[in-house]
Amino acid sequence: MKTKAYGAHASNKPLEAMDIERRQPGSHDVQIDIAYCGVCHSDLHTVRSEWAGTLYPCVPGHEIVGHVSAVGSEVTGFKVGDTVGVGCLVDSCQHCASCGEGLEQFCENGFTGTYNGKTPDAPGHTLGGYSQQIVVSDRFVLKIRHPEEQLAAVAPLLCAGITTYSPLRHWGAGPGKKVGIVGIGGLGHMGIKLAHAMGAHTVAFTTSESKRQDALDLGADEVVISKDPDDMARHAGSFDFILNTVAASHDLDAYTRLLKRDGTLCLVGVPEHAHPSPNVGTLIFGRRSIAGSLIGGIAETQEMLDFCAEHGIVADIEMIPAQKIDQAYDRMQRSDVRYRFVIDNASLAA
Ligand SMILES: [Zn+2]
Ligand SMILES: [Zn+2]
Repeated sequence: MKTKAYGAHASNKPLEAMDIERRQPGSHDVQIDIAYCGVCHSDLHTVRSEWAGTLYPCVPGHEIVGHVSAVGSEVTGFKVGDTVGVGCLVDSCQHCASCGEGLEQFCENGFTGTYNGKTPDAPGHTLGGYSQQIVVSDRFVLKIRHPEEQLAAVAPLLCAGITTYSPLRHWGAGPGKKVGIVGIGGLGHMGIKLAHAMGAHTVAFTTSESKRQDALDLGADEVVISKDPDDMARHAGSFDFILNTVAASHDLDAYTRLLKRDGTLCLVGVPEHAHPSPNVGTLIFGRRSIAGSLIGGIAETQEMLDFCAEHGIVADIEMIPAQKIDQAYDRMQRSDVRYRFVIDNASLAA
């Protein structure tokens, strides 16, 4: 089945309209008419081959929402017309220990990413959500319970939402806990909303005084200007957990010092240039940890979507047609978006 898409033929070429092939739905497949697709920093890094290993043509997009347009004969959980989502994963081995625990993102045999992942389907690698339709195994399709008018703003939950929800849950963000969120961008703005909804005392860290009011509006109880040493020092030894969404290389000690005994600083961004080595003494004297976290499994992604529907949480978005994607990437690199671009996939018909 041919479908219209937007992607790149090489790392140095702009994205352009293209026709791609989707497989006919198999017995366990769900075919989705994509309504909207969020734009993640990973899309930009992959399509421009900044992480190496990009296969072309490259069609990015792993924050996918839309409606079921066909189901295979064995599919029982979805029917035509259902509102659904697809995140960063479209397959995994289903038999390793991590898959057995519902942690497909840590599949020991390698998960299949929604784009740039190995697949028997043409052209040999997966093609993502900057397209009119996608066909996905029913195990990797999520139910969306938000009102239909919020659908575009739900899309970023599929990557930015789960990337922040999973560590907040894993490290017990909730009432009585003091939780920091570093960086107020696509990930961080979701982290603030989620930590606040979980009932944690939520502190936003930003380098920019101009984002103070935004952070408060997103649900932060306090805002700390991370460039102000006095402001930082006031919070020394007080945090249970800090979620650091900043991928650029920076001094991690500034945050480990703010942790209580047994507190954890969790990183979710991979820096292009390594962070300076953290001070080991700060970790030892206080049994503090530096940890990492990767998106979330399918069960937890569903839990996150349900939590967000129940609490009325969506991303703050700016909608664009697919034709504006390169300009959107340039603006993302300047952090000039509040806080996530979402493609209106109806624009692909043009
Ligand atoms: Zn992403
Ligand atoms: Zn596995």
